[in-house]
Amino acid sequence: MTTVKEILGEMRSDSEADRELVAKAYEFSKKAHEGHTRYSGEPYFIHPAAIAKQLAEMGMDVTTIVAGLFHDAVEDARAVPKEIEKEFGKEVLFVVEGVTKLGKHKYRGAERHAESLRRLLIATASDIRVLIVKLADRYHNMTTLEYVPEEKRRRIALETLEIYAPIADRLGMGKMKRELEDLAFPFVDPDAYAHILEVRKLATKETEPGLAKVQKVLRHELVKRGLRDFRTDIRIKGLWSLHQKLKRKNDDITKIHDIAALRIIVAGENDCYTALGIVHALYKPLPGEFKDYIAFKKPNGYRSIHTTVLTKDAGIVEMQIRTEEMHRDAQYGIASHMSYKQLHKEASRGSFATLSFSWVRSLIPSLLNFSKKPSTPMSLASDNGKSAESPRWLSELAEAHAEIAGSREFVEGLKEDFFSHRVFLFTPKGDVVDLPYGATPIDFAYAIHTDLGDHTQGAKVNGKLVPFETSLHNGDVVEIIRRESAHPSEKWLAATKTALAKKQIRTALGLTEVGRRRQRVRRRRTTPRNS
Ligand code: MN
Repeated sequence: MTTVKEILGEMRSDSEADRELVAKAYEFSKKAHEGHTRYSGEPYFIHPAAIAKQLAEMGMDVTTIVAGLFHDAVEDARAVPKEIEKEFGKEVLFVVEGVTKLGKHKYRGAERHAESLRRLLIATASDIRVLIVKLADRYHNMTTLEYVPEEKRRRIALETLEIYAPIADRLGMGKMKRELEDLAFPFVDPDAYAHILEVRKLATKETEPGLAKVQKVLRHELVKRGLRDFRTDIRIKGLWSLHQKLKRKNDDITKIHDIAALRIIVAGENDCYTALGIVHALYKPLPGEFKDYIAFKKPNGYRSIHTTVLTKDAGIVEMQIRTEEMHRDAQYGIASHMSYKQLHKEASRGSFATLSFSWVRSLIPSLLNFSKKPSTPMSLASDNGKSAESPRWLSELAEAHAEIAGSREFVEGLKEDFFSHRVFLFTPKGDVVDLPYGATPIDFAYAIHTDLGDHTQGAKVNGKLVPFETSLHNGDVVEIIRRESAHPSEKWLAATKTALAKKQIRTALGLTEVGRRRQRVRRRRTTPRNS
């Protein structure tokens, strides 16, 4: 069981008040979860305690750590929201409730909708800290997945691979991404896992002695050329990542040069280029294999220099050169930008959430997988697994906010736009349809297909029959009952929100030119038969 001392030991903040709050929350949550056990039979509290420790290790603020301790308490009715708010503050409750809400959106299978679900989660989270607690939660659950009933394991592991690991990646949390993937891999494809494990073992065993030699030579040379403050280590590629790369390279292991890479971590950015010069003077670089992610950082914020060189002792070796700060960023991503000092600065400026705003802004495009192409609601529903188009409202949102980023309005605006403008809905098969806020089952039916809209007999939301004018909410499962004899009526116009549905209803009612023409044709066709 993670002790409170361990959590406090990892905490970045040295404020006495913060530390006392965490200690108090620890006892409070422990009591709330008393008598409650995990699938493994262990006390339930080991779970929130482990999460709190991890959040502290990631450098998260006190609000996030405390929210981690309570993330399952409200859902399991072990603690009353009011009490949490009174004892630990509004922000803690906000994050706890955010995590609870996220848990309601379940992955319903189809891989091709993963992108939409990722977006849904990001939109629902509204505060990045909610996502970070959720990721820590998922991580700890994955470490104990073997105790979960067998029929649930694969779904949870798939969801981790398809939804949570990519979100961690987009938040720049490289360590989290890799660990989630490698924890999920054996449950998703045990045979491939065993195979890749063997492949990696053989490959590293082969290169290990040579790599140690290269490391020694290199360290010697770096010191000789005046670099004093640096360290080197060997990073072994993750199993899932190796599996994916092998597939891309037609299973040709000789085409993969980064199973084991040599990392050089230096003090300053200039030292990166000095080290690069030394590496290239020592070993011949492979053409086309050099990447300067310092000058051009990746969309998720990743910074490092990568170069692949030919060595005598270990053959082809990838070298990754970065500063200590870049290294931390690559591991913890957005979390590392939310350190106590920064939070404190933001907070004293009076901003709402203690987020690193510029970071959130710079992440939005990659978070939401931007493309400039405008799209209709259907493009989400018909998303077939290729990189999904993002809806126009998102690009508009980003443009509108480009200037005011870093301000209170930015975060408020972001929440506002997500919540007041769009809802994400599911078909019974798990397709995601995104519609404006206030949309009704009629809008939903027309967003799927005109024919379905034109023959809507009734609608079920989350399994219950509802009236046509019902407003739909994020995460609702909407089932349209189709009947050939059902037809639009004038009343439907008042029960729709989207221009698309209104237009189709008018057309069906013969209120538009197209509609009138269509009705004339229909009459001509049906009259002789009827008489
Ligand atoms: Mn949990």
